[in-house]
Amino acid sequence: MTAEQEALYRAGLASALAAGFAVLEGGGTSLDAVTAAVVHLEDNPSFNAGHGAVFTLDGHNELDASIMQGRTLQAGAVCGVTRIKNPVLLARDVMEHSDFVLLSGVGAEDFAATRGFEFMPQSYFYTAARWRQLERIRSGDTGLSALTIAHVGTVGAVALDQQGDLAAATSTGGMTGKRYRRIGDSPLIGAGTYADNRSCAVSATGHGEVFIRAAVAHDIGARMRYGQRALADAVREVVLEELPAMRGEGGVIAIDARGEVVMEFNAEGMFRASRIAGGEPAVHIYRD
Ligand code: ASP
Repeated sequence: MTAEQEALYRAGLASALAAGFAVLEGGGTSLDAVTAAVVHLEDNPSFNAGHGAVFTLDGHNELDASIMQGRTLQAGAVCGVTRIKNPVLLARDVMEHSDFVLLSGVGAEDFAATRGFEFMPQSYFYTAARWRQLERIRSGDTGLSALTIAHVGTVGAVALDQQGDLAAATSTGGMTGKRYRRIGDSPLIGAGTYADNRSCAVSATGHGEVFIRAAVAHDIGARMRYGQRALADAVREVVLEELPAMRGEGGVIAIDARGEVVMEFNAEGMFRASRIAGGEPAVHIYRD
């Protein structure tokens, strides 16, 4: 990563954090805070979600997103949508205005039309950097694994509000070069996203196939509820023990009902930012 790219990532993280934090500071809900932060990141071309999402092998963008509210355990998600500017907003609409949790592809877009969503042309999601990554994969470049190229930039947010409610949201273009309508962990409640006021809120990024099999986001909360683990221990067990044992690369951001924040990863780095009431914003990429 060049210094210029790093500065762009840091600025993007800082402004998404500010957008989410402003909601919380104003007494808003954690649900609105994670929505605001993720919308910000979806609109930022540096990240693998919304504008700037990675490409499928045949050169399209298929977007996945999910959101969950810790007080009610309500959740909404969409997968494989191709024309929605902010998939996290559609996931939230599924949660709040449908009888379902997860809608896919054209069905999700039919629902979006009934809800008045704006449809974008495919070209809206295009970025030259993501196209170059696809070309590297298509050309069989072995210098970087598909995984290494692909899983930088999925976005997510977790929050605790002044009412004591937790929420989590995740949004992604998935893995570069994916095919056969592959769906990863990000839109799957319990794998890429989970929030429960009795334990914690979690958003994950990494090799989706393994995160699905390890039910990562739910497992962290379950270790807290049934195993009386502190958040940091639950996260460490899953991210630094379970996942590596399954050869699963990636990490999570998490917050518990007391406002403890844990951001852990088993890869080289993970773009992340946090802020606690009364504290300063913190933005990190590598292990410090
Ligand atoms: N977890 C996402 C997926 O497998 C990718 C990522 O986090 O970068 O679709």
